[in-house]
Amino acid sequence: MKNKFWIFITLALVVSACQREDYFDDLDPATDSFQEDDAGNDTDDSNDHPPGDHDHGSDNDAPLTTYRITGDDIDKIKDHNVAPQYQSFQQDYAKHIEMWEFVTRLLPFEIRGRLAEFEVFHGEGELLGYVAPINDNDLSRWKFALAIDAANNLDEINFKDFFTYVVIHEYGHVLTLNEEEVNTNFNNCNTFEIGEGCPRTNSYINQNFLIGWDDIYDEFQLLQEEELFDFYDKYQDRFSSDYAATNPGEDVAEVFAFFITSETPPNGNSIADQKIKSMYNQPDLVELRNKIRQSPTVRALRAGSWLENPLRNRFKIGKHQHTTVNSPAE
Ligand SMILES: [Zn+2]
Repeated sequence: MKNKFWIFITLALVVSACQREDYFDDLDPATDSFQEDDAGNDTDDSNDHPPGDHDHGSDNDAPLTTYRITGDDIDKIKDHNVAPQYQSFQQDYAKHIEMWEFVTRLLPFEIRGRLAEFEVFHGEGELLGYVAPINDNDLSRWKFALAIDAANNLDEINFKDFFTYVVIHEYGHVLTLNEEEVNTNFNNCNTFEIGEGCPRTNSYINQNFLIGWDDIYDEFQLLQEEELFDFYDKYQDRFSSDYAATNPGEDVAEVFAFFITSETPPNGNSIADQKIKSMYNQPDLVELRNKIRQSPTVRALRAGSWLENPLRNRFKIGKHQHTTVNSPAE
């Protein structure tokens, strides 16, 4: 038992490292218990990838090209060494530019100041996007990375589109983990510790934590990886998606993505709903939401709830890993 405990501690430390990676489960469905939509309908995915199998990490992503961001523009820093099957993706610079232009249309200029590098990678149908500080000790400058194989529908912005959701989710990490939100100094932390440091008392992540994590965090910290599924089942009313149950950092990014992409506030009063509603009570976030949604470049906006979108099920717990492997900071 003692050995097992230490393995878990090690894992927890790795999981809490700075790179925030987000996977979808299109090709590797998690367990059936995680295939239910909000109506409780099973989508009947096969279970060919056990939930405890997190042995993919950065093995499943192939960095293609990294760009330096200057305002609305990007210029290439480097092409990464890639396996032959990725060369055509690397050479599709036109698509890289289209992906960046999509980001610039979706996220107004004034909220992109912390994005320092843009990376295009191939996610092998699994990894969707990730963010990482350029330097672990400086949360004001971030790498923003998106999967070329997840980037579809780049010619319009639609808040029911999955790639749009992914970009908003990744931006949610930068919004909630930046230097104004999190202190990289862990000393005398009076909130709770995350890989990036100690969230400030009034940070978005801490406010979200106080609504739905505070009383279950001790239990969460003692979980084995495979127990995350039961944890989500037990506390479903607290989470907007199963992926949100991964950890407080993913949760607040999910809450933010729901807040931005959903047409209206939730009607219910579950803890999950309360988390989203709390964002409507913060004027700075409402202003940010309006900026994004009312941007003149945002087109093809349709009413609707992300909760009703079947694509939502592609965000799955059990197919994601935060890892220090290949972390640009190391
Ligand atoms: Zn994430």
